[in-house]
Amino acid sequence: MNEFANRIAVDWHKTLERALALAAQSQGKGVLVFDLDSTVFDNRPRQARIVREYGAQKGLPALTRCQDFHFTNGWDLKHACVAAGLSDEDAESIFRDLKNFWGARFFTSPYCRDDIEIVGAPRYLHACVKAGAKVVYVTGRHEEMRAGSIEAMARCGMPVPGGAVSLMMKPTLRESDDSYKRVAHQLLEELGPVLAAFDNEPTHVNDYAARFPTCLPVHLATDHSGRPVTLTERVISIPHFAW
Ligand SMILES: [Mg+2]
Repeated sequence: MNEFANRIAVDWHKTLERALALAAQSQGKGVLVFDLDSTVFDNRPRQARIVREYGAQKGLPALTRCQDFHFTNGWDLKHACVAAGLSDEDAESIFRDLKNFWGARFFTSPYCRDDIEIVGAPRYLHACVKAGAKVVYVTGRHEEMRAGSIEAMARCGMPVPGGAVSLMMKPTLRESDDSYKRVAHQLLEELGPVLAAFDNEPTHVNDYAARFPTCLPVHLATDHSGRPVTLTERVISIPHFAW
């Protein structure tokens, strides 16, 4: 949970029901948008695996015991290393090397396969399809990660691309997530009216709210990049998809 936890209303689950009702009303035309990382997928097992592999390669026993619950401060690798038992000084001294090791693995299909679902996401996504929505995953992952992403969706029991379900990805790793998501807005508009958009990143959910004034902009209060961005007032925060 993050600093947006206090934005979550007691009846937050009604937002999920509202999006399903909008999908049913749109009779097959409406679009429901879902980000992947920290929205429908929890990446912490992938993060922890990379840290363990680094620990094994560098002979750092504390890091070989790293687990997903050591990532309590978003994607903060240094924080996770200390939580796993490394001293502050050692975490500082290895950080640059670890970040390079991480970067060479994190954005690859074989490592996507460690991802697990955000609680309730598979069931909710299937309910969206059943309600007649076009479900579109819009992610900052790039095309090279398509195979691993689809494999993780299938393993978690989520709808996979095909038919009413599609997956929009950055062409390459180089593009920024922010600008790619704005490109995706145009593609979404061509698919049909955007009824709701779910994303954990405050910048991205604010962008959906601005671009699609009639959509439900839904923020997952999981974790985020850490940029100090205030959520637009009409954005609704939810903790997960188990309603
Ligand atoms: Mg995300």
